[in-house]
Amino acid sequence: MVTVGIDLGGTNVYAVVVDGDQPLGRAKLRTPATGDRSGVMDVMDAAVRDALADAGAGIDDVEGVGVGSPGVVMAGTVGGASNVPGFLERFSLGDLFKQKVGHTVRVANDVTCAAAAEHRLGAGRGTDDLLAVHVGTGVGGGIILGGRPFEGGAGGAGEFGHVVVRQGGAVCPCGRRGCVEAYAGRRAMALAAERSKAAGTPTILFDVMEEMGKTTPTSRVFREAFDRGDPLVADLLDDAIEALGAGVASAVNLLDVDVVVLGGGLADQFGERFRMQVDAAMRPHLFLQPPRVRVVAAELGDEGGAIGAALLAAEPA
Ligand SMILES: [Zn+2]
Repeated sequence: MVTVGIDLGGTNVYAVVVDGDQPLGRAKLRTPATGDRSGVMDVMDAAVRDALADAGAGIDDVEGVGVGSPGVVMAGTVGGASNVPGFLERFSLGDLFKQKVGHTVRVANDVTCAAAAEHRLGAGRGTDDLLAVHVGTGVGGGIILGGRPFEGGAGGAGEFGHVVVRQGGAVCPCGRRGCVEAYAGRRAMALAAERSKAAGTPTILFDVMEEMGKTTPTSRVFREAFDRGDPLVADLLDDAIEALGAGVASAVNLLDVDVVVLGGGLADQFGERFRMQVDAAMRPHLFLQPPRVRVVAAELGDEGGAIGAALLAAEPA
């Protein structure tokens, strides 16, 4: 018997078929950019079937399905995700998708799933207290305490991106000010770059974007512009690292986790240098001395969320 995990993102739907701890098959489809949630369910269903085919398994071999979803997840319901059509208003994702796939569906926050996977199979092996930080379009977090995902009373724990690092600071995509995501989320960084360019600051970021055939500055575009010595991108990256350092230190001061797993598109693109810089930016703010915490790179890459969702589906309800 196998379990299937889905990582539902704003850009892609990943599905992974897992037997125990072993991934057997995978599939990746585009998330619909428009439409309603039933269109999203159709793509998730297709991803499950493609991943099963890749694993040489059928729907009858499945003992459970897990979904890692953006937004705030509470008892199988999801709401507050603005990057997937129909996911802003709260609804029962678990029930709706169960009707589609015919199996019990467990739902958790996407970064919580990634944290669970890194804990069990990735960079967080050997510790039971960790924070996963996902630096991509936005900034997400997932918490494992005592070896278990910690989701909070209403499922809203782990919103690392909205830890405030500068009171009255830059406007965050959430509408508040001074959050980590306002400095370190790729969407917020792209907006800041647009504003600076309009105000006359020289930058090649948007030329690189066009050259690479993109309509928004992706993490790869940021990396390329940085490699070519763009000073604006270097400044934005410095701000992002400072914000992440302060935010991670605040989280560590609160939770005393052993390991912080850094992942996501921006972290992956900038690699080891970025990890070391976030680690260095964190240290001056740490309260517990000598510090025990380590900042490590995620090991499971794009697949972590889906693998974590599959592991969740295998757990007793
Ligand atoms: Zn925010």
